Amino acid sequence: MTARGMMGLIAALLTASAALLVATVAGGEGGGQNQSPCSSTTITAGALMPDLVPDQQLLADDHVIWRDPQTGQFLLAFSAGIKNLGAGTMNAVGYRDSVAGDVPSPNTMPAYQRLFHANGSCDEVQIGTLTYHAVHHHYHLDGVMNYELLDAGGHSVKPNTKIAFCLADIVRVAPTLPGSPKAPAYNGCDPNRQSTYVNMGTSVGWEDIYDKMLFGQNFDVTDLMSRPQAQYFIRQTVDAAGIIHEQNDANNSTGTWVTLGVGVPYSTGGPRPGV
Ligand SMILES: [Zn+2]
Repeated sequence: MTARGMMGLIAALLTASAALLVATVAGGEGGGQNQSPCSSTTITAGALMPDLVPDQQLLADDHVIWRDPQTGQFLLAFSAGIKNLGAGTMNAVGYRDSVAGDVPSPNTMPAYQRLFHANGSCDEVQIGTLTYHAVHHHYHLDGVMNYELLDAGGHSVKPNTKIAFCLADIVRVAPTLPGSPKAPAYNGCDPNRQSTYVNMGTSVGWEDIYDKMLFGQNFDVTDLMSRPQAQYFIRQTVDAAGIIHEQNDANNSTGTWVTLGVGVPYSTGGPRPGV
């Protein structure tokens, strides 16, 4: 090796270690704008894709008809989960320039999906928006979930409800999947409405869960409870907008049948503020 070659190698090593340092710093969560450690803005060969799958069992097991004592409304409330059963983490980030005291209205920032490769490199592509939720006090990935209530003929009886959430690791449901972390990797939702960088996701083998007690996790079925009993279908669809890059878009929808109408038992309850 020539002296020039050696100098070139040293320079290359210094550049590589500087890049590594930047990547390590950028991997942390918190303030600051574009902290992307990714080298590509398109999805390249070898990217490990998540696979978001709705939790059919949870929906079937955990739904209830409530009569809200304050409003007299009948509510069909249900819990829902999103599992990541894919090869790669489901990671969404958002970033923007400093908002310097005045947050935009609506308080949004562009959302990006990061897809990692086996060697640690990543691709980052824009997928939609993150919006700050004034009641939940954190950012939500818009349109990540969709709920519908259908009649037995498959017709919609309640309008589609597009739901946004802060993605997180709540329960480890598939620990044998390669790359599934033992501990939750995404367990915080940034409460700072002036934030310029947000990082959320659901790891391989983990599930994010939205409890039936939360606002948005119910349909007002007051009208249907005053009609003769009939069967209805709660349909839950993840990534209904088709914005998330994943392995399989054919397993994004599930549902469960419920009976509503005069004489159907119900309990007393209602949603509470939550996350
Ligand atoms: Zn929330």
